[in-house]
Amino acid sequence: MQKAYESFGISAAVYERGERILKDLAERFREIDETAEFNQLKVLRAMQKNGVADYHLTGSTGYGHDDQGRDTLERVYADTFHTEDALVRPQITCGTHALYIALSANLKAGDELLSPVGRPYDTLEEVIGIRPSVGSLAENGISYRQVDLKPDGAFDWDGIRDAVTEKTKLVTIQRSRGYSSRRTFSPEEIGELIRFIKSIKPDLNVMVDNCYGEFTRREEPSDFGADMIVGSLIKNPGGGLAPVGGYIAGRADLIERCAKRLTAPGLGKDVGASLGLNASMFQGFFLSPTVTAGAEKGAIFAAALYESLGFSVYPSSKEPRYDIIQAIELKTPENLSAFCAGIQSAAPVDSFVRPVASEMPGYPDPVIMAAGCFVQGSSIELSADGPMREPYNIYFQGGLTWQHAKIGILNSLQKLVDAGLAL
Ligand SMILES: *Cc1c(COP(=O)(O)O)cnc(C)c1O
Repeated sequence: MQKAYESFGISAAVYERGERILKDLAERFREIDETAEFNQLKVLRAMQKNGVADYHLTGSTGYGHDDQGRDTLERVYADTFHTEDALVRPQITCGTHALYIALSANLKAGDELLSPVGRPYDTLEEVIGIRPSVGSLAENGISYRQVDLKPDGAFDWDGIRDAVTEKTKLVTIQRSRGYSSRRTFSPEEIGELIRFIKSIKPDLNVMVDNCYGEFTRREEPSDFGADMIVGSLIKNPGGGLAPVGGYIAGRADLIERCAKRLTAPGLGKDVGASLGLNASMFQGFFLSPTVTAGAEKGAIFAAALYESLGFSVYPSSKEPRYDIIQAIELKTPENLSAFCAGIQSAAPVDSFVRPVASEMPGYPDPVIMAAGCFVQGSSIELSADGPMREPYNIYFQGGLTWQHAKIGILNSLQKLVDAGLAL
């Protein structure tokens, strides 16, 4: 094995450090496999219950009227996530789009959106209008209020109580850390927050940005009172096979509004051709529990490896985790670049490319990204990205297989060593 790694450019010292680290992770990995098994059953049951059939795997064109594959896929998502309905479409271009649909469809001029968990994901700042933007919610008369987390990361219960007014209509809770150093919330914690908020104002709707969280636990935020959960199909639930798309799962009346926002009032879910993508969406969802498990193992391995070298990592290798993102504080722009070079050069596609930081639509700082993916920008595939700002955190995620995640992580360390980091 070591020879095989050597021929890949990974030194004996790096490989052996990796093997030592892995010895302590066996129990953790076993738990992850059990979660995957549980979730595999959940998805399989939903597919069988809805009678997924061979003819559902072909697609429609044009209006997409009576596309039974598409409609059945949405039933499968809804049953897996224990919601009344779901919207799962290739016409949802990405996670930000799915979130924008869920927000804009369920807020009207004069309403207020509340985030009780601090600043949302970077791309949502323009959606909401925190950074002024054409077409933002703010431009359409929807105001926004935010309650930051306490310095220790706890919910600010009093602040939240004070922030709920009669204007407050929708609450947005981001499960994952995104590009910040705060922790990721468990579905249970999100449930506690939802119960609290609904005890103040029972008719509030709660949306959870579930990006990167799907299938890392046995339950989802929808099992704990979320009215909508939202995510991207080029992350966990697409299983690496969905080439595009997003989902919104939740209460039927809210999903109806989302569908009518995505297409048009009067059309809603009835139109939207699946364009031959049903098969990859079904198959990707079927594989998602195990693909997510592989990515989670990669995240834990990266945490343990970099922790052993004295870097701060979030979460630590010992903490429970509720998403597949691993943040590593790399401290210098050189380390950040070297890490990304390692991930990129371990990729099956575009391995010869050298990542450099650049401006990205929707992001305030230049971002460096490593992604040699089958699906452009897919972050369930082995990928890493970080904004070029202190403390030079890298956000690492994905890996269609645990083995590939491991190879990529060892290669990242090799590049840091090549750039002068002492082992
Ligand atoms: C990825 C992500 C988004 C946005 O998804 P895109 O597909 O990149 O538009 C939103 N929120 C969180 C927490 C994310 O991780």
